[in-house]
Amino acid sequence: MKHSQDLLDDVQEVLLTEEQIAAKVAELGQRISADYAGRELTLVSVLKGSLPFMADLMRRITLPLRIDLMEVSSYGGTSTESSGLVRILKDLSAPIEGRDVLLVEDIIDTGLTLNYLLRYLRGKNPHSITVCALLDKPARRLVEIPIGYVGFEIPDAFVIGYGLDYGEVYRNLRFVGVLRPEAYES
Ligand code: 5GP
Repeated sequence: MKHSQDLLDDVQEVLLTEEQIAAKVAELGQRISADYAGRELTLVSVLKGSLPFMADLMRRITLPLRIDLMEVSSYGGTSTESSGLVRILKDLSAPIEGRDVLLVEDIIDTGLTLNYLLRYLRGKNPHSITVCALLDKPARRLVEIPIGYVGFEIPDAFVIGYGLDYGEVYRNLRFVGVLRPEAYES
């Protein structure tokens, strides 16, 4: 079991501070509120990594909205590489037919997970579906994805914190950081 100081010791570099994230989330919320003015949004987020982003973003949107949660697991990959094979562990709890959906994602890496999810959700006939991702690693993209809103473009490094894990740990860090290579081995 890791102790709190171990968590910080495992961080090689802080990429985005708590303040930078909060300012960006506020800005995204303002833009989304303006773009969807007069409409009613459904925010759909994907557990578990998007949980802090979803919780912060929804409180920065000033429109009437509903939320729903999905959980997926990718399989066939490794702990730091996605495979694009996606299994739905938890589906939406309400229909999205005819609704304006904002898919709230923590990070887009290869794009394979999102590509699958977008196809799946489009099959439920929403009026519109737009992606809002906090982090984007464009260097690693394997499939073209239309992204409506992006918080930060980041370099090709495995990041943790603000919801993102390595082996289910580090999600509660308030910043986004890069893990020390030694932390992968231990
Ligand atoms: P993709 O299918 O786009 O390659 O990967 C999407 C999912 O892989 C993300 O939702 C996230 O769960 C995980 N992922 C991708 N890059 C990272 C990363 O740098 N750090 C962490 N912790 N997870 C990542």
